[in-house]
Amino acid sequence: MTSNQSLFERAQRVIPGGVNSPVRAFRAVGGTPRFIARAQGPYMWDAEGTRYIDYIGSWGPMILGHGHPAVLDAVQKAALDGFSFGAPTEREVELAEEIIRHVPSVEQVRLVSSGTEAGMSAIRLARGATGRSKIVKFEGCYHGHADALLVKAGSGLATFGFPTSAGVPPEVVQHTLVLEYNNLEQIEEVFKTQGDEIACVMIEPIAGNMNFVRAQVPFVKRIAELCQQHGALFVFDEVMTGFRVALGGAQSVYAKLIPGFQPDISVFGKVIGGGMPLAAFGTSRKIMQQLAPLGPVYQAGTLSGNPVATACGLATLKLISQPGFYDTLGAKTQAVVDGLTAAARAAGVPFVGDSQGGMFGFFFTDSLPQNYGVVMATDKDRFNRFFHGMLERGVYLAPALYEAGFVSAAHTDADIAATIAAAHDVMATLHSA
Ligand code: PMP
Repeated sequence: MTSNQSLFERAQRVIPGGVNSPVRAFRAVGGTPRFIARAQGPYMWDAEGTRYIDYIGSWGPMILGHGHPAVLDAVQKAALDGFSFGAPTEREVELAEEIIRHVPSVEQVRLVSSGTEAGMSAIRLARGATGRSKIVKFEGCYHGHADALLVKAGSGLATFGFPTSAGVPPEVVQHTLVLEYNNLEQIEEVFKTQGDEIACVMIEPIAGNMNFVRAQVPFVKRIAELCQQHGALFVFDEVMTGFRVALGGAQSVYAKLIPGFQPDISVFGKVIGGGMPLAAFGTSRKIMQQLAPLGPVYQAGTLSGNPVATACGLATLKLISQPGFYDTLGAKTQAVVDGLTAAARAAGVPFVGDSQGGMFGFFFTDSLPQNYGVVMATDKDRFNRFFHGMLERGVYLAPALYEAGFVSAAHTDADIAATIAAAHDVMATLHSA
């Protein structure tokens, strides 16, 4: 049998770091990444045949679990009809209609193949529609790896950002302002001084790239007001939260708390493709008319709206829009968080968690962090030991303390009970700091 270690060594010879996306390399937690051979329902099996309860779900898409029969059937049928045509298909129209049906702020969407592409296109559209250059993002929010978005905050208040990646010239990020998440003062200040130059403010409304941090309600409300007053567009990056925290995404959660709230532009990915490369961005018909071929903002893609991917996405959306789906999923997810919290309490380990719909996060600290700096100051050593302890017991959590976790409809009560039992064992070993 091939071992994970031998595959990792082989992989590193031909793929940088042995992986096609950095977090998979286990750099944050150390150890050997598991090479996954197959998955079914809530489980994944690695190259050595070890089974894991999967709390990553491909980083969000697998909301129904792996290999749901109805989704598999739709994908198989679509594949028989052809992989890709480079011409329009009925299924793209159906998927667009389905997304719009659940997200009232969106009148039109364009389908693309990755969250990165969707986020990058949304920024271009916002800039094209407003005729402005500056964009605002928040530290700890990830919107894909487009050059202008690989930025960290400068030293002063509301300064221009610095590239977080080599290969991104400072000039390319000179229009990107990076602010602290949940910091009202900073957003007020930036709009006061530069409001009329800002094309858009982009946010992860429930940030899953700094574990799990909610944008506070007054923060979202105030950004929406400021954007409206200054003619800037409010972009909700729902690549992770869309169709994951609720059928209508995080925006539906905030709309319940802020009467009349809607973002201007929405970005989707992950769940809408059900595990296939598919993402989308959308907004009002008026703004979407700015896109080529109708308007001056260029955007395109050879595999955009791919017929097999749209079949997978459509079959997924059909199943998750059944009544009660999110109530059950939300209860399961919160049961995981509650169980982990109880295990930590029993062991006397500082711990706090939160969830919304099928997305959750937890921290080895006493209260829920409100921004990236606080997340990164939580107990990394304890997190890493917890991660490995759980992995050894067959529970696959995100291999970095700044990533969210995901529960699927396929996770059973027995899976959750087994997860919590494992957590009790591992937490007991974490008592000493
Ligand atoms: N936005 C958010 C909120 C994400 O979580 C991600 C990916 N984790 C992206 C954008 C980029 O998506 P992709 O990896 O499909 O390019």
